[in-house]
Amino acid sequence: MAKVAIVWFRNDRRLADNPALLAAAERADHVVPLFILEDDRSAAWRHGGGSRWWLHHSLAASDAALRRLGSRLILRRGPADEAVAAVARETGATAVYWNRRYDRDGRAIDMRLKSGLRSQGIEAESFNAALLFEPWTLKTKAGGPFKVYTPFYKACLAMPAPGAPSPAPRRLAPAEAWPSSESLDAWELLPTAPDWAGGLRDAWTPGETAALDRLASFLDTQLDDYTRRRDRPDVDGTSRLSPHLANGEIGPRQIWHATRLRADSRNGKTGAEKFLSEVIWREFAHHLLYHHESLPEANFQPAFDAFPWRDDPDALRAWQRGRTGIPIVDAGMRQLWQTGWMHNRVRMIVGSFLVKNLLQHWRHGEDWFWDTLVDADLANNAFGWQWIAGSGADAAPYFRVFNPVLQGERFDPDGDYVRTYVPELARLPESVIHKPWTADNDTLKQAGVAIGKTYPAPIVDLAASRQRALDAFTAIKRSEG
Ligand code: FAD
Repeated sequence: MAKVAIVWFRNDRRLADNPALLAAAERADHVVPLFILEDDRSAAWRHGGGSRWWLHHSLAASDAALRRLGSRLILRRGPADEAVAAVARETGATAVYWNRRYDRDGRAIDMRLKSGLRSQGIEAESFNAALLFEPWTLKTKAGGPFKVYTPFYKACLAMPAPGAPSPAPRRLAPAEAWPSSESLDAWELLPTAPDWAGGLRDAWTPGETAALDRLASFLDTQLDDYTRRRDRPDVDGTSRLSPHLANGEIGPRQIWHATRLRADSRNGKTGAEKFLSEVIWREFAHHLLYHHESLPEANFQPAFDAFPWRDDPDALRAWQRGRTGIPIVDAGMRQLWQTGWMHNRVRMIVGSFLVKNLLQHWRHGEDWFWDTLVDADLANNAFGWQWIAGSGADAAPYFRVFNPVLQGERFDPDGDYVRTYVPELARLPESVIHKPWTADNDTLKQAGVAIGKTYPAPIVDLAASRQRALDAFTAIKRSEG
């Protein structure tokens, strides 16, 4: 009897370096590619607005790529176990393959599904596509999971190199009869009222082809200078691969091998090492999420449970809208709103401002990023916020409060990043663009800036709010001791 296999695509929507797809292509006579919209999952795990926009275009790209191989993408709504069972019934599938995910809810769904399928005599097998190394393969000398980055990094480098990525299958045998598919448009993943996605459309091209092109052009033109330019939000100095990685349109193995190859051929090792060390930060965050499954919702360091966060919806709204009166913070928040992405240095600056100067719980920041980022990723987002808050694993020490004025002057020295996203300050000279409230009246007038009218006054005093944060931290440290 002809063998029918379902490939359940999730955040691994690529044809190359996709072991689940490869298994189906090699082992089955008919392959049914399936994607399930899991909107039945709890709100905290559901895609936010930025991710939904990306998902729409990414699914369209996947379907087009599959059609070039003689196949197509079947769309169904969750619950996932019901959808997989229904498609298996309709197609007579005797095998279901997928690539693993590492979050608590996702793993629980997958484990249930695996045992359910096997009990019906259906083969169910999962593979690794999302990580360089499986989380259970890296252990400290004491045998536990790593909680500190540097030894984790060294352990990664000491591992045998991650397996080489496989090429995309040349052809996929179509289903004998295609099961029905829901319509992508009917899922209404794109914003309509209002359509806020103009900036996203200008900034991004979702899909595997665009991801591979971006990697190639980054390696050609930016890798050598990566170490020097990666912290500068005013230049295009990083890969911007994060949304492609978050959606699995490219995988870390592909990045690893292409970067190593490039470094070896050009002897440009420094940029390559630094770049791969960032990819290993991603790996670290994912391994932590696997071992500490409440990372997205609970303080990694329980001492922070007693932290006196403030409840200030007005301050939170000003931060979300980029109206705090601190230019680099407002530029970052507006870049996020307009393009669905923010430079890493600025993520740290806006994060520090929210949790330290405004004393808002890091989960407010995590939620807002989750809803607005096109690269929203459960592990990286939770890890980044806990790192900034000081409550995380190997986190920034709490007493290190970023001074957003000095950060702006150092990493956006000409003020170009602020000028791009806070155009009402564009005519200010660089000497005051990061602290317009200090400018004299003539300078403000010439630049057409009226503090409190055309641009807000700072919503907090930076020095006083820094001290307030340090006092709050001292209080929890004292109660802990
Ligand atoms: P590059 O500098 O080109 O790095 C290459 C890849 O390495 C990135 O695509 C990313 O996958 C990984 N990487 C780089 N920096 C980090 C880091 N600090 N932590 C983990 N992985 C990293 N990244 C996300 O992908 N999704 C998120 O939801 C997310 N939320 C964040 C929240 C906060 C508060 C902070 C401080 C950081 C967050 N990051 C997140 C990490 C980082 O900011 C982005 O991965 C990076 O800015 C993406 O840009 P890039 O692809 O040009 O990075």
